[in-house]
Amino acid sequence: MAELIADIAVNIPLKQLFSYRVPESLVAAVKVGMRTDIPFGRRTTIGFILALREGQAEGLKDINGLPDKDILLSAGLIKLLRWAADYYCHPIGQVVRSALPAGLGSDKNTTKILTEQVYTSTDCSAEPKGQKQKEILAYVCANEPVTHSQIAKEFSASQTVLKRLVELGCLTSQQQEKIRDPFLLETLPEDKNLTLTEAQELAIGSVKPTIVNGEFAGFLLHGVTGSGKTEVYLHLVAASLAANKQVLVLVPEISLTPQLVARFRARFEASGSRIAVLHSGLSAGERYDAWREIIRDQVQIVIGARSAVFAPIQNLGLIIVDEEHESSYKQGEGFRYNGRDLALMLGQQHGCPVLLGSATPSFASYYRSEQGMISRLSLDRRVHDGDLPSVEVVDLRGQVLEGEITNELQEAIELALEKDEQVLLLLNRRGFSPFVLCADCGESFHCPNCEITLTYHQYNNQLRCHYCDYANSVPEQCGKCNGANIEPQGAGTEKLEQELNELFPAATIVRMDRDTTTRKGSHKKIITAMMERKIDILVGTQMIAKGHDFPGVSLVGVLGADTVLNFPDFRSGERSFSLFTQVAGRAGRDSGGGRVYIQSYNPEHYALTCAAQQDYHDFYQQELPFRQELGYPPCGFLANLVFAGNNSSQVAAVANELCSYLFTVADGVDVLGPSPCPLAKLRGKTRYQVLLKSTARGKLRNLLTMLESETKNVPKQVTLTIDVDPIDML
Ligand code: ADP
Ligand code: ZN
Repeated sequence: MAELIADIAVNIPLKQLFSYRVPESLVAAVKVGMRTDIPFGRRTTIGFILALREGQAEGLKDINGLPDKDILLSAGLIKLLRWAADYYCHPIGQVVRSALPAGLGSDKNTTKILTEQVYTSTDCSAEPKGQKQKEILAYVCANEPVTHSQIAKEFSASQTVLKRLVELGCLTSQQQEKIRDPFLLETLPEDKNLTLTEAQELAIGSVKPTIVNGEFAGFLLHGVTGSGKTEVYLHLVAASLAANKQVLVLVPEISLTPQLVARFRARFEASGSRIAVLHSGLSAGERYDAWREIIRDQVQIVIGARSAVFAPIQNLGLIIVDEEHESSYKQGEGFRYNGRDLALMLGQQHGCPVLLGSATPSFASYYRSEQGMISRLSLDRRVHDGDLPSVEVVDLRGQVLEGEITNELQEAIELALEKDEQVLLLLNRRGFSPFVLCADCGESFHCPNCEITLTYHQYNNQLRCHYCDYANSVPEQCGKCNGANIEPQGAGTEKLEQELNELFPAATIVRMDRDTTTRKGSHKKIITAMMERKIDILVGTQMIAKGHDFPGVSLVGVLGADTVLNFPDFRSGERSFSLFTQVAGRAGRDSGGGRVYIQSYNPEHYALTCAAQQDYHDFYQQELPFRQELGYPPCGFLANLVFAGNNSSQVAAVANELCSYLFTVADGVDVLGPSPCPLAKLRGKTRYQVLLKSTARGKLRNLLTMLESETKNVPKQVTLTIDVDPIDML
């Protein structure tokens, strides 16, 4: 007899789904996309039902129960997850788990649905005795249905009064589900009604029909900072809402984009649209609530970082990926997906347009637009007075510097301070000095876990590893020669801050990097102080280059450009160009006439000269031959295999063995390695890598499939990580 069988994803490192019988008692309630309690080995766990089918259930175990009334995975989401598990060679159960908000994906059911009393009136003409009773009754009659927390907020000591009103037959109450609303009562910016520029009209006009018709199409919105991209987003969102469809907006990091979220809320909340903002600061309960609201179609706009691509939106009209070039769209561990790339896949599966926006597009997206795979829309000029900053590359060759700041830059800072303008200084290296040396014997200090040099932090006199956070105080004596001359070398943001304090004692100087923004709210505090012009000079790492619109900044300085240019990665040119262009774009955003100084020993490098001209196309053309010649993405495809373990000879042996297998079976794929990773030891583990490279994606996929069936031979002591389309290859 055919019975109902559920195919279930379980959170374990295996590719397959597990089949269970659905007992008679649950047949009516069970749906694809639900969670279920199942017996698994000798324990019970929670799995996700990805498919239901009729079949022979002989020998299958029964599912135990269904903890929720709702489904948690929409059909569209299941399709995306299965595709992603396959593409990124990651076990489906773990993919499902990483897609779900914390608390929902775990093996135990820990999140609760909250409930509360909701009041409605039964007799508004009643005249209760007490003054308070009268007031509360009037309030409920005017605002019903009213939740208990609403009443509690308006009236103190309302509990007994409410009870009395119910007894008197004036009110009835009902227990209802409560949605936790994470929005603090923030003041929103004024929503301006703007006349669109011609370029904005053109961009909107190109995307709009695909929203209305429900067609997939990829767009790259390339526009310098301040050219009005956000305004384009807002208009397209409105078009999607008008078509009764939902919108997904991906941003690199919510905490770095408070202005964007505020503008969305200011525009759409007044007209009754609900916006869910998914960010890491939400409690598990808040996420659970947001998730259920989304799947029930009660939310029109979802804004979130990369994992929001897995929000279970059923009726998508538009996907926006803001700052699409940001490497944070790629998850760096576990399930290593790329949120931007999955957004494009999601658009294809749903049949809706995907709009990628950036002032400095990723090389890959620009390449696709050149190839005609996606359409490029350009906003070439700033909305306000249009002047891009003038950029000067300061040649460091032959200059004798005492600190980090050249005379040219120092004079420019003095001038800006005199005019009461603000200054941004970028140095993409935190700490005081990137390393310390024994001046007598040259001995340097390394992390015992990671073997990389330790960074000196002066404020607490520590040497710290920026990878594993190992920390040690600076030794008084060199362990090798007993010399006492242990000296910091080179400069980080801490040292730059000190130098600035000496040069400009009257100025207010603030540093923004990972060390000064660990406490919750500290990042926002610095931004606010900057906006209120309480800071004269802001020095920091790439953090200062992201997303903020500081109208008072007229001068930007870039220090240590050569470290960024010489980073050992084929994307170093792209990253440098992007970082320098973005930070340069912070100068003179409102008034125009901004000035930018980039100090470098390599002033002719095209990433620098093109950033100075803010000329993306020129950069693209100079970068392209290099990618083509070496078959690097987007002209080729990569997968990086990383082997890690405690026993270095075992790791090397396993890597070698698998590598020789890949050599023999590879067809149209270069197998490079094995070689020690650039970070050859990380958190105590030895690491080797094998890079797979091909100009044909299909051939790379074939090899990965063969690899996956070999991985069962990898001993437990060695972990193998497969990173498809890697970004960070350290
Ligand atoms: P981007 O997202 O490209 O940095 P924004 O959309 O934030 O650009 O626009 C920059 C500034 O210009 C904002 O203050 C915005 O309100 C304003 N702006 C955008 N479009 C127009 C327009 N058509 N007319 C006038 N001001 C505009
Ligand atoms: Zn370390």
